[in-house]
Amino acid sequence: MKRLLTSVALAALLAACASSPTSPFAYTAPTQQPEGSSGFTTKPGWAATQFAVAAANPLATDAGYQVLKAGGSAIDAAIAVQMVLTLVEPQSSGIGGGAFLLHSNGSKVEAFDGRETAPAAADEKLFLGVDGKPMPFYEGVVGGRSVGTPGTVRMLEMAHRQYGKLPWAQLFAPAIELADNGFKVSTRLATLLKDEKYLKNDATAATYFYKADGTPVDAGTTLRNPALAEVLRQIASKGSNALLTGPVAQAIVSKVQGHAGNPGKLALSDLANYQAKKREPVCSDYSVSTRTYRLCGMPPPSSGAIAIGQILGILNHTPAATLGLVSGMGGVPGTESPTPSADWLHLYTEASRLAFADRGQYLGDPDFVQPPGGSWMSLLAPGYLSERARLIQATGPSMKTAQPGVPGLVKTAYAPMPEQIEHGTSHISIVDSFGNAIAMTTTIEDQFGSRLMSDGGTGKAGGFLLNNELTDFSFAPVDAEGKPAANRVQAGKRPRSSMAPTLVFDKNTNQLVMSGGSPGGALIIHFTAKTIYGVLNWGLMPQQAIDLPNFASLNGPTLLEENRFAPATVEALRARGAEVRELPMTSGLQAITRGQAHGMPLWLGGADPRREGVVMGD
Ligand code: GLU
Repeated sequence: MKRLLTSVALAALLAACASSPTSPFAYTAPTQQPEGSSGFTTKPGWAATQFAVAAANPLATDAGYQVLKAGGSAIDAAIAVQMVLTLVEPQSSGIGGGAFLLHSNGSKVEAFDGRETAPAAADEKLFLGVDGKPMPFYEGVVGGRSVGTPGTVRMLEMAHRQYGKLPWAQLFAPAIELADNGFKVSTRLATLLKDEKYLKNDATAATYFYKADGTPVDAGTTLRNPALAEVLRQIASKGSNALLTGPVAQAIVSKVQGHAGNPGKLALSDLANYQAKKREPVCSDYSVSTRTYRLCGMPPPSSGAIAIGQILGILNHTPAATLGLVSGMGGVPGTESPTPSADWLHLYTEASRLAFADRGQYLGDPDFVQPPGGSWMSLLAPGYLSERARLIQATGPSMKTAQPGVPGLVKTAYAPMPEQIEHGTSHISIVDSFGNAIAMTTTIEDQFGSRLMSDGGTGKAGGFLLNNELTDFSFAPVDAEGKPAANRVQAGKRPRSSMAPTLVFDKNTNQLVMSGGSPGGALIIHFTAKTIYGVLNWGLMPQQAIDLPNFASLNGPTLLEENRFAPATVEALRARGAEVRELPMTSGLQAITRGQAHGMPLWLGGADPRREGVVMGD
């Protein structure tokens, strides 16, 4: 049964705003700082007519909103949002991490790669213990070993040179003011600190995030971060070199190399030589009934766009499109809760198994890894996807574990990579009034990254967290037969990612239909695919699509968001032989889609009820 819900309140419908934004940018910190929750908070969905920004924290969204209102472009707003996120959502992303940015100026889509790199001194043994075996995950994460060269600031600088409208320095004003004068610790940050085991072993982090009695700061506490304010002032006036060379870089390197138990190899030359890269985006056609869309996302080193393109492309060769949503079990207080049916979930998870088998086999940094058949597009070739779809038995048993295919008709020499834990991250979607749109997913990898906080050599309190992105490499460099994994550690290489910032276009009109993405490690691919499918196939508004329960397979068990699916659905999937696990699946989706009201264009926005994000626009 196909259902189109109509009951979402468009709480922030700001339709009457006709004035064009021309005033110079002067940031005003909100007098009341809103606090989000860390459980499940129903969100209304939003609408705007000229521009909109969706981010994971209300203060960050507000900074982006003020930039757009002052005539800034989408990239200008993204910079302001990212700098505020460094302060208010330090557990997820920041100037100590990496990011991917997809940009459309209305006619051209470009992909900016700000992924961290492995130090020049690193080799494939980086995550092997003294016994020559892969070390336990958190032994790799905590300390200097996992820290890659941060790329976010240099990537934003590259994109700003091309698409910025407001001066670079002005975009740092919101974060600097909030860092100087204080921001209220959000419920989510306080909750994550309560469960955090490693962070207080870092002296800088211990002083900043913990009280004198050793307990973490409470939600609502006003926190000031003078060290970050000082570092941001330097980046504002001197650009990314202020982070990657000079005293700030020296402080980062000392922290990484000087870690007592787990030093890393990051050197000053790694930081100084870091280059953001512009890459050709991965765009694939996706048909829904009579309409064809272009799904555009990040190419390798991310696996996001290829995996999403494969899953949706394979599904289109199954009866999935005939299956709508069914009534859910009411897991969301006060709302209807539609869910996908067991038949559809079977098809989706089988398609996912096939996509993740290829992901584990083929994906890695394109500067080091050969794509199958000479092109990454071999993995998305319609003939290949239809051949892969033939492995799915629509009414039969689950394949449980899929084997990689042979795209491009060339057998690969790489060993498949086993799945590893991934967490953290933040997603930003923005449309401006000049016809630009961005989707940016940004990360320090695990929650609180490597648990190392640098004061940037300022000697002041606070600072910023350093990433643990290198643990996105395969810990095991080779398989049992000695075949190398595509995603093994190599000097200067970028670890494979799952981040999937996505821009969707109508293929006929070339108009933007959607910008979206999520945190969630490998589950990012499923959270984002769910939202795209909900909007395009089930006709949902972005908030409704985001609200749908989460589901996945990483080429093993079927994973379902706990307490969101009826027992009959779970049983129906088990009856097909799939191992089903129900667990919390904390997506952090943000999405903006193009709507139409009274003949006027209308941007609709949604933010994940599982985190603290909001959307703002005029
Ligand atoms: N580091 C992960 C990646 O790049 C993202 C981590 C997360 O979202 O949890 O794929």
